[in-house]
Amino acid sequence: MVDFPRCRVSTWEDVDRWADRVGEQVLAAGRRPDTIVGLTRGGWVPARLLADRLGVKRVYSLRAQHWGVTATPSGKAEVTEGPSGPVEGQQVLVVDDITDTGESLELALARVREGRPARAETAAFLHISHSKFRPDYFGEEIPKESWVWVVFPWNYWEDLASLAERARGVDPDRVRAVLRERCGWDVPPEDLDELARWNARR
Ligand code: AMP
Repeated sequence: MVDFPRCRVSTWEDVDRWADRVGEQVLAAGRRPDTIVGLTRGGWVPARLLADRLGVKRVYSLRAQHWGVTATPSGKAEVTEGPSGPVEGQQVLVVDDITDTGESLELALARVREGRPARAETAAFLHISHSKFRPDYFGEEIPKESWVWVVFPWNYWEDLASLAERARGVDPDRVRAVLRERCGWDVPPEDLDELARWNARR
């Protein structure tokens, strides 16, 4: 577990750029799929954006579990559900947000292949160069020496909640400063206020 991972907070503009890039790569390769399988949970938004870019109507879900809470792998990756529909004879694109160890996407691809698709390829918005699995398409490569925890817009409050909790354990009066110093995450003060309301509602 990395208690205080270096963080890179990504924006919806980044997300749009990665979706454009991956969509263009798939089209340039002449490999428009007829089915997209999105890994839960990180691959759902990328899968939906790629379905829009590529004009794909059939989007399935596949549940992979690996990293339990922020920057903490929960042991071995496993596929626990899915894909949610039949893939036999289809041209499938399996999508996730990031390949870090690459185990989730690798296992997901193996699971999809069991359904005898005509073709199965993989895409991730981000790919860390130490990943043992290299997706066919990715929007950006992060060199392994520059490993970061990417805070995606769809995981913002969850990541902030778990890291702020750890920071509180270091110094409850300096949560914002601890996040800035240890994670490089300059959290807007109003977001910490919102987090307190978010926590109270849970
Ligand atoms: P992995 O099986 O290690 O390739 O990663 C599985 C999932 O964990 C990814 O789809 C992400 O949702 C999450 N994850 C792993 N590493 C990172 C990271 N460096 N930044 C953000 N999310 C990550």
